[in-house]
Amino acid sequence: MITMKNVIKEGHPTLVTVAKPVKLPLTQGDQKLLKDLLNYVKHSQDDEMVEKYDLRPAVGIAAPQVNVSKRMFAVHVTDFDGTLYSYAIVNPVLKDKSTELIYVPGGEGCLSVDRETEGLTPRYAWVVFEALSYDVQTGKLIPIELRVEGYVGIVFQHEFDHINGIMYTTKLFKELPMAKPAFEFVEAPESTS
Ligand code: ZN
Repeated sequence: MITMKNVIKEGHPTLVTVAKPVKLPLTQGDQKLLKDLLNYVKHSQDDEMVEKYDLRPAVGIAAPQVNVSKRMFAVHVTDFDGTLYSYAIVNPVLKDKSTELIYVPGGEGCLSVDRETEGLTPRYAWVVFEALSYDVQTGKLIPIELRVEGYVGIVFQHEFDHINGIMYTTKLFKELPMAKPAFEFVEAPESTS
């Protein structure tokens, strides 16, 4: 299983490298990694597992963050309507995006960044991805087109940036007058990814 010991930190060259497309059919190793990535995110939202394995809570993780430079990431996040988005994603392509920009009030976080950062990161209000979704139960790859918006859309964009070698720390702004907050800032949610 993946723990924080496997997560590389900012300054590591893999985090600023454009990851390679995943070759198909998936190797056993790639299938295991997809399962492990999704399990990390799920485990990190389980208090018992967090305490037992000293996990940092997250809503997403990308393969480059465990030093595998391939275009794969996992997200496990619930939107404000209660809809769960749980995916192990392979070779995503950004097909469409809004002109409107949004941001996480209070700023984003990242498993690969161990310090407090200040600033807001502009994201598209909605995005459409074409990708292959790995079904961890059946081992099948399912072609999907996914439109995600708001906070969930931001999580997907944060992970998509990782496979393009882009850290949110390179996109920090004091103010974003052209953008809107993705939600009301009450208390910082767990937005680490
Ligand atoms: Zn991250």
